[in-house]
Amino acid sequence: MNSATAKRIVLAARPNGKPTERDFRLELVPIPHPGTRELLLRTQYLSLDPYMRGRMDDLKSYASPTAIGDVMLGESVAEVIVSHHPGYSVGDIVLAHTGWQTHSLSNGEGLRKINPSDSSVTARLGVLGMPGFTAYSGMRIIGQPKSGETVVVAAASGPVGSLVGQLARRADARAVGIAGGPEKCSFVQDELCFDAAIDHRASDFMERLTEACPRGIDVYFENVGGTIWQAVSPLLNKFARVPVCGLIAQYGMSASPGPDRLPATMRDILSKSLTVRGFINYDFSELFPEFLREVGAGIRSGEIRYKEDIVDGLENAPNAFIGMLEGRNFGKLIIRIAV
Ligand code: NDP
Repeated sequence: MNSATAKRIVLAARPNGKPTERDFRLELVPIPHPGTRELLLRTQYLSLDPYMRGRMDDLKSYASPTAIGDVMLGESVAEVIVSHHPGYSVGDIVLAHTGWQTHSLSNGEGLRKINPSDSSVTARLGVLGMPGFTAYSGMRIIGQPKSGETVVVAAASGPVGSLVGQLARRADARAVGIAGGPEKCSFVQDELCFDAAIDHRASDFMERLTEACPRGIDVYFENVGGTIWQAVSPLLNKFARVPVCGLIAQYGMSASPGPDRLPATMRDILSKSLTVRGFINYDFSELFPEFLREVGAGIRSGEIRYKEDIVDGLENAPNAFIGMLEGRNFGKLIIRIAV
């Protein structure tokens, strides 16, 4: 590849269930030239997030699908390398929706300048970015944990779940994390200081979850769905709140297997006076400035901790993304492209 060549990854085919590497295609293209009031961005770090799986399907959802042949979308930290825009200078670092590519053009819309000395720039893609804000807003508006209550969250070592549990602890609630495997569970309990961490792959998962929640569950922050929801739901207390944030176990499934549990779920919602509310983080965007202040201060003081899983090279993005959907990532998954 010569220096005037950009790399990008496009959607080659719609996955049938779990994505495979054949659903993606790496393309080499000329680096584009910015026009009047445009910028050329070079991606430094690309965020890989579970929602991208939804965009690979041609289904009606809260956002439009990616077309076949289009660049996979995604947020990144990027450097301005050419500027024909009065608001930006060469060397500025921005948060941008560049997609899975090394270079992209922007007219400045939707960009957010960041000061690399404020915090680690990669945190702006994770704990101090969209996933962290999802945890913060879902807990503030729907979860509303109170002192002495029990909060349970799965995918607990990831950017959403790890902050959910730490916010529960800040509210003086009991935080119980569910994670895949002993290494992730140790991190959740020992480093993030959750009260307990339970391995959902262990054969005694249900018993251990029940033991970890002796007073039942008051907030279940739903990140996973499927069998995890089935294990958690009998433990929900009267007036429990369930922010429905994500259903990663169900992404790519056309229909849920097994018996129809909806009648039992509806009975629980009624008889236990449950609040079950789905949300997309930007439903609560007015909270973003206070999130940045509060969680930013917690990160600076060391009270809020997080883990990142950084993979080198755009060409490794498909494999890393497929791995995340199988739980192979350990922490916020980020692709390092050009730093
Ligand atoms: P993570 O970095 O935590 O990665 C996903 C994790 O999900 C995996 O590492 C794995 O962790 C877990 N997982 C995957 N499949 C299963 C399964 N079948 N059963 C149990 N666990 C599974 O992701 P994020 O923190 O970025 O996202 C967490 C959730 O939040 C996702 O569902 C995502 O879609 C949702 N989300 C929603 C947003 C919104 O606005 N509503 C915004 C951002 C995220 P483990 O190995 O520990 O099981």
